[in-house]
Amino acid sequence: MKPRVPSIAKVLQRALQLDFFSELLFPEKSDTELLPQTAPDFHQGTPLTALPKLPTSFTHPNSNRKIQLPDASLEYVLLRSKRRTIGFQITEEGLRVTAPRWVTVANIDDAIQEKQQWIINNLNERRKRTERRLETAMRWEDGASFLFLGQILNLRIQRSDSVTHITTDYQEEPRELSIQLPLDASEQQLKDSVKTWLQKEAKNVFSKRLPVYADMLGVSYKSMSLSNAATRWGSCTSQGKIHLNWRLIHFAPELIDYVIAHELAHLLEMNHSPRFWARVESVFPDFKRARQRLKRHASAELPVF
Ligand SMILES: [Zn+2]
Repeated sequence: MKPRVPSIAKVLQRALQLDFFSELLFPEKSDTELLPQTAPDFHQGTPLTALPKLPTSFTHPNSNRKIQLPDASLEYVLLRSKRRTIGFQITEEGLRVTAPRWVTVANIDDAIQEKQQWIINNLNERRKRTERRLETAMRWEDGASFLFLGQILNLRIQRSDSVTHITTDYQEEPRELSIQLPLDASEQQLKDSVKTWLQKEAKNVFSKRLPVYADMLGVSYKSMSLSNAATRWGSCTSQGKIHLNWRLIHFAPELIDYVIAHELAHLLEMNHSPRFWARVESVFPDFKRARQRLKRHASAELPVF
């Protein structure tokens, strides 16, 4: 279909491209260590099963518009706002389009057609990710496992009527976390106890490693706290407050070290300039590899609490 109003379509397309990138690259205020958009292979030793056939229709639970594209039919949510450009967001639910009030539906359809490849690719990517997450959803039962400091940890779950409160006991060889539960304890209580234990371990490990890298870099930090941010592994304020995502505890110690070195290096350089990376490299020479590995770890692959 040819754009009905070519001049406006061109202007929109430009605005659109700028908007795409700003939303892709800076989903929120620019800070450190964004989680990857996609979830590549992370399960060592587990071959990827054949990917499902790519769907030709995309829906959205709250869709109010539909468009037929050559390769797919696409239902999406159209929202009007005071913004000045058309914005496209791919969420877990589907495509959401936000457009200024003065843009006609025909203009929006044209804009979608212009960007259909990007939209379809990203919707496919999201769908695959959701499917993978469902496949890898953890069963919270005896023998279940997840990664702890980069290695498999098995859960030993015992329920007994002689137990009055939940206790956790960690054993390093073989890596096991034993949990004793009262008979009537819920699955959520079980998850909470594992989460509490992981957070305690995270705090221990981070507190030990921070001073090591602070010394090497010659910086001092004011405080460390655990974060639960969905989009970043760590952050740091100019006042020296370090926030580290407790879920790093799933990863190998060197990845935790890398994030710590990265955040502390920000106390010297509050940016990602070559000077900043040189600081990181001075204390963590293999930072490029660590960065790549961290990018490959997707939140989708971690247990859900
Ligand atoms: Zn950073």
